[in-house]
Amino acid sequence: MYKSVVLLSGGMDSYTALLLELRDTPPSSLLALSVNYGQKHLVEVEFSKEQASRLVVRHVVSSVVLPGENNGALLGQPRRELDESASGFFVPFRNLLLITLGASMCQQIGARRLVLGCNLEDSQGFPDCKPAFIRYAELSLRESGYQIEIATPLVGMRKSEVRDLLYSLGGSLDQTYSCYLGMVPPCGRCPACIGRSGQ
Ligand SMILES: [Zn+2]
Repeated sequence: MYKSVVLLSGGMDSYTALLLELRDTPPSSLLALSVNYGQKHLVEVEFSKEQASRLVVRHVVSSVVLPGENNGALLGQPRRELDESASGFFVPFRNLLLITLGASMCQQIGARRLVLGCNLEDSQGFPDCKPAFIRYAELSLRESGYQIEIATPLVGMRKSEVRDLLYSLGGSLDQTYSCYLGMVPPCGRCPACIGRSGQ
């Protein structure tokens, strides 16, 4: 019997959310869902596979193709157009899409809880990480006929606090990958690299 689906990107936040969920839930009651949506930093999906494997959590990778070519820097816009602020990496409607895929997974396996790793800095930089957006998304699921709670346990936490929590739960940063530019080793300059380093 499944209790929760955790959206697992391979990055620090969602991995911490997964470890947190495992405090109260056995691995056999969790499913981790990762999504390949054409992001440049696809290496993060490889990290998500290792994370789920390490924690003995069932893992599903879903692939979607976003239409058009102007979906933001994460999906490969030319470098010269790249806005290196967090907003330059915003993929419109991404979280709505991820929530829909997560809810679909919940519905299929009978889970009633969908866990996202949104944190305080995400909610300041990305409109679809804000508590109001999450609340309305949950209402939309309910109006669709499914009682699925969307849990964002990190939403009040800064990146530095998430990092501390990650270590307190037995994880470490080198088990995660977040670089928006998809560089190996990580670039150290993009908002994701800067955020996780606590600068
Ligand atoms: Zn980076």
